[in-house]
Amino acid sequence: MTIFSKIIAGEIPSYKIAENDRFFAFLDINPVNWGHTLVVPKTETDYIFDIPDAELGEMMVFAKKVATALKSAMPCRKIGVTVLGLEVPHAHIHLVPLQKEGDMDFRNKISDPDPARMREIAEKVSAAFEAE
Ligand code: 5GP
Repeated sequence: MTIFSKIIAGEIPSYKIAENDRFFAFLDINPVNWGHTLVVPKTETDYIFDIPDAELGEMMVFAKKVATALKSAMPCRKIGVTVLGLEVPHAHIHLVPLQKEGDMDFRNKISDPDPARMREIAEKVSAAFEAE
């Protein structure tokens, strides 16, 4: 079971943003910028391009809905999208609120992000998702 499956199952706490029957979204615990969110499928596949076409399409549509909520809840110009997958072998899409290109520099993570701020962001984005 991957760490993300444990988060989805509620065995490990997370700052949850949204879920439906197939996908789950939560804040990255080491964000590159405030609001950095991960979108993951509830089924475990390591490499994102091994996900069957239909599910991959649905994952991107779910990520779009999360990105819309992020953009309305966080001050930013756009939501950046990237896939790395070098650390956790459970496919995921990174969504990051951007003011400038450097806001998505994975070499510069926010160290020890304030839990109260993370909780506040998760609640705000989650409410925006529900309101869509
Ligand atoms: P990647 O696999 O895309 O290279 O990186 C994995 C991402 O997952 C990293 O940005 C890392 O901060 C995040 N991450 C790893 N473990 C956890 C965790 O237990 N909880 C949360 N919320 N994020 C995690």
